[in-house]
Amino acid sequence: MKLIAVIRVSRITFPSIFILLFVMNFSVLAQDGLLKKPNIILIFMDDIGYGDLTAYGGIGYKMPNIDKLADEGMRFTNFYSAQAICSASRAGILTGCYPNRIGISGALFPYSKIGISSEEETIPEILKTKGYATGMVGKWHLGEAEQFLPLQHGFDEYFGLPYSNDMWPVGFDGKPITDPLIRRGKLPPLPLIEGNKTIEYVRDLDDQSKLTTRYTERAIDFIKKNKQQPFFLYFAHSMPHVPLAVSDKFKGKSQQGLYGDVMMEIDWSVGQVMNTLRENGLEKNTLVIFTSDNGPWLPFGNHAGSSGGFREGKLTTWEGGQREPAIIRWPGIVPAGSVNNELACTIDLLPTFAAITGAALPNKKIDGINILPLLQGKDVSPRKNLYYYYNKNSLQGVRKGPWKLVLPHIYGSFEGELPGNDGYQGGKHPDTTGLALYDLRRDPGERYDVKDQNPEVVRDLQNLVEQAREDLGDDLTGKDGKNRREPGKLNSN
Ligand code: MG
Repeated sequence: MKLIAVIRVSRITFPSIFILLFVMNFSVLAQDGLLKKPNIILIFMDDIGYGDLTAYGGIGYKMPNIDKLADEGMRFTNFYSAQAICSASRAGILTGCYPNRIGISGALFPYSKIGISSEEETIPEILKTKGYATGMVGKWHLGEAEQFLPLQHGFDEYFGLPYSNDMWPVGFDGKPITDPLIRRGKLPPLPLIEGNKTIEYVRDLDDQSKLTTRYTERAIDFIKKNKQQPFFLYFAHSMPHVPLAVSDKFKGKSQQGLYGDVMMEIDWSVGQVMNTLRENGLEKNTLVIFTSDNGPWLPFGNHAGSSGGFREGKLTTWEGGQREPAIIRWPGIVPAGSVNNELACTIDLLPTFAAITGAALPNKKIDGINILPLLQGKDVSPRKNLYYYYNKNSLQGVRKGPWKLVLPHIYGSFEGELPGNDGYQGGKHPDTTGLALYDLRRDPGERYDVKDQNPEVVRDLQNLVEQAREDLGDDLTGKDGKNRREPGKLNSN
């Protein structure tokens, strides 16, 4: 009897239930803001450390626009770059993979014979399947041969430098190198590229001083041009990577010398982008992310950033190398003025964008995890652990919760060295570490090895290490791994 009654009720009410479910679903989606695909702007800095933004304790200059971004969005405190060096970090953020999975490591030099493989799927490529216009402004650093440039990896347009702004035949004094014995003097002039073509050369610091402004103008043009459709803008500044240069607008404006002036210009640039969104009615439906590729390049002293007190900096897997400031603003979804202390990484952005837009994930295995719940204010991260890789394929550590297990390795240390100044580089020396366990909750500076007091934690993390070595191999222990893929090779794909 009961069953029949239920069926009858279901028959009678099926259309209304359907409508009700549809309306509920619609309202949930509408509430979440996911019905209308948001524009996405990813602002990616070069060599900004954890302590460089005023919202993270930076002093000696003002950053009102980035402060506002933090006031209106979410500030992350346990957010990592994919690796502590330029090219690897960029390969990671664009593909959602640990860079060693896809064969990219280090910082690629001019005449690079490798880049991202055309078989890998990038953020702009997956967003294009959902109708996004895709643009890139700034530093690419994933191969300057045409087959490797942004237009061949999902971007509709590109304007910027193909690699770092110090890869030019100019000395630390800003003058052309004439001594044939200096390696840097053999580098080609620094090209500024539009689409796939070099349109001019950046020849001196005066040319470099215009980069931030020129990039910003291009970013604004792209936003205005695409305001009628969803867009993805990857805005990768060349600054504050050395050599530093700033436009006249900000010269001498900070109390922190040229580095502070450059930071103020970057803040101005963020303000220009946000003003453009506001003026074009895009402020609400645009997800803005601000973060950096790796920590500060400490031997450059007063031309380097701040690790915020974390150990070491760029080029190491200590926290100063990979822990980054990260601010995400998305009105209506990301709680304004919030702080998130959960674990996340730049490689998580690709799957998060996929979840937001309904785009399919890449066919090949990736390492990123959808962190949309964190953006929505949940305080438990879907990311449970993170591996620290460096060099070609060296697994140097793993983090789970507050624990970081550091694996024995050699690294270049800046500690105890006199830093350089005014554009000149100071020293570094090789150092070694054995196996060590740090509790980042009470010891963010990684000074107190507590492995002997926590053998079960060490065992648990070593299990994770073994899983990673199975998957990706590890040069430090001579393991090959099963799932590494080849990079793109010149003229081979
Ligand atoms: Mg960098």
